[in-house]
Amino acid sequence: MPTLRAAFKVNVYPGKGAPTPDEIAAGAEGCRGMLVLVRDRVDAYLMKRLPQLKAIANYGVGYDNIAVAEATRRGIMVTNTPDVLTEATADLAWALLLATARRLGEGERMVRAGKFTGWTPDMLVGADLQGTTLGLVGFGRIARAVARRAAGFRMRLLHTSRTAHEGAAEEIGSRAVDLDRLLKDSDFVSLHVPLTPETRHLVDAAALRKMKSTAYLVNTSRGPVVDEAALARALREGWIAGAGLDVYEKEPVVDPGLLEGGNVVLLPHIGSATTGARSAMSRVAATNLVLALQGQRPPHLVNPEVAAGA
Ligand code: NAP
Repeated sequence: MPTLRAAFKVNVYPGKGAPTPDEIAAGAEGCRGMLVLVRDRVDAYLMKRLPQLKAIANYGVGYDNIAVAEATRRGIMVTNTPDVLTEATADLAWALLLATARRLGEGERMVRAGKFTGWTPDMLVGADLQGTTLGLVGFGRIARAVARRAAGFRMRLLHTSRTAHEGAAEEIGSRAVDLDRLLKDSDFVSLHVPLTPETRHLVDAAALRKMKSTAYLVNTSRGPVVDEAALARALREGWIAGAGLDVYEKEPVVDPGLLEGGNVVLLPHIGSATTGARSAMSRVAATNLVLALQGQRPPHLVNPEVAAGA
């Protein structure tokens, strides 16, 4: 905030929850720039109501909440905050992977409910990790950071990606395969693609049916990459062993089917929620916005066509 206040007059949304589109439009009326959170939807309707808008700085790396093509058409720069949250999000993917494999959610609930009555050999027996196969869907910054952490578990690595990334794949020791093969061969499948029209429901009922019945799905990408109703059914009917989710299809609403089962660990979209990542995201988002509004090219511009045309 000091970075922004030093350069501009700043209006801050005073509410605690997510603002409605009308509240965003009212609060940002006359503003040249907006700093928005990933929960804030910035669509064509909103941009039309804010004709002075020149820059939108997203506080997050995923920018599926912003209608980027419409922003480009209107000459509005859109920026994001990559890199600074990569390690924190990779840590969280691993936290979910371990929590689902070792049934930490169930164990925690058992202890808090006073149902831990003593050690038994068959209580909350989970899955082994050593020597298993981890499949990464997407092979960008976060997927690679997740892959690097797998070395300690001596896991075999598979990944899918649009681009070959041969150098990185070799350095990390991951094999590129198609999604079908990855789903069939992996013991753990972790999602790291952005939400786009191509990745929406990438993991649907058909994909879930291809996974091993002993496999686990981890999603720290975006909720709509997974068909949540199909996942709830897959967990209920034992198509897969479990799932760990940080993100949801209709956030903050969670499919009731997911709340019923024990074999799913549910977190409230906290992938980047560390002090280091969040303060770096604030700095990067503010710097992006200041530079964009000062007519310079911000470092994390997601629609460079706008700068080229400026
Ligand atoms: P990134 O570096 O851009 O990596 C994305 C990867 O997905 C790239 O390898 C990309 O391929 C691949 N990809 C894109 N579309 C694809 C498709 N249709 N099929 C297969 N692969 C595809 O992004 P990142 O920094 O790792 O972040 C990934 C996502 O994580 C973000 O977009 C965001 O939604 C999510 N995220 C969530 C949290 C959280 O709090 N849970 C925190 C941070 C990020 P190419 O290499 O060919 O481009």
